[in-house]
Amino acid sequence: MFDLSNQPHRRYNPLSGEWVLVSPHRTQRPWQGQVERSAPEQRPAYDPQCYLCPGNARAGGAVNPSYEQTFVFTNDYAALLPDTPDGTFDRDGLLHAELACGTCRVVCFSPRHDLTIAEMDASALRLVVDTWVAQYEELGAQSWVNHVQVFENRGAMMGASNPHPHGQIWATSYLPQHVAREQNTQRDYYAANGRTLLSDYLALELAEGARIVCENEHFVALVPFWAVWPFETLLISRRPIGALLDLLADERAGLAGILKRLTTRYDNLFEVSFPYSMGFHQRPTDGEAHPEWHLHAHFYPPLLRSATVRKFMVGFEMLGEAQRDITAEQAAERLRAQSERHYRSAS
Ligand SMILES: [Zn+2]
Ligand SMILES: [Zn+2]
Repeated sequence: MFDLSNQPHRRYNPLSGEWVLVSPHRTQRPWQGQVERSAPEQRPAYDPQCYLCPGNARAGGAVNPSYEQTFVFTNDYAALLPDTPDGTFDRDGLLHAELACGTCRVVCFSPRHDLTIAEMDASALRLVVDTWVAQYEELGAQSWVNHVQVFENRGAMMGASNPHPHGQIWATSYLPQHVAREQNTQRDYYAANGRTLLSDYLALELAEGARIVCENEHFVALVPFWAVWPFETLLISRRPIGALLDLLADERAGLAGILKRLTTRYDNLFEVSFPYSMGFHQRPTDGEAHPEWHLHAHFYPPLLRSATVRKFMVGFEMLGEAQRDITAEQAAERLRAQSERHYRSAS
């Protein structure tokens, strides 16, 4: 063994099979981060120009209903189309392509233009969880849909084109590659051990404690040992269930609660509405049981030192492998130190 907090080393991600280079000796200096108090973003509760607000017209010409809770519609400019047939293109295995069939939906989390998950109340967030469950069930029940990806892309830094609180759901006939990798690693682990990879991993993390951020009766949020993004987190269900659909009523409430707590900690870290891409990984909807799958969500936020200093994946990271300075343990400690009272409500 060696000193994980002092020596350059590589950490292995057993879910993806990838490695990350960690260089903790570069962070021996005291924490240099400071809060750059940018003028708090003032957004109206209703924006007449927003294509997601209730009652407004979208670019495709459709008009949103005057929805009061959550609202789901098929993306007017979807990246995938449901009526795409099967088909393969191949030239000597070197020019290889497959037709891709799918559908892309948008989920408005709230009619309020000015809210985020961190600022929504628990009952409204519970309705978002219920909507995700219903969408997974409805889309997954279609015979051609083999995978349902629920995700949220938040903040201009992540390329989100609209600040209105919303996420997306892409259903596909095929397993996307990150999911396919996790399918293989989880299947191999389950076959060898008879338990899910993430239940054994979670037990280790709970025993060590160093990377735990926050937890409740049903979910644990932690900075994974193999985190690549500075404040990356993994949200794991305590019960080894494979999908959102398997959540019992109190577990759905538990998910809503921990999402609010985790995103509040993120926002408080640099006193900014924290950008991120997050999404749930769950069992494919191909009709098989998939006991190896363990429901979890990944949060990938780009910020590194302040509201404006972000991490870039460049140089060695594009050509060699991912690299970080601040360790997963240091990141967890910083997130643990945050209040769960949102900075915008704390004044
Ligand atoms: Zn809006
Ligand atoms: Zn995953």
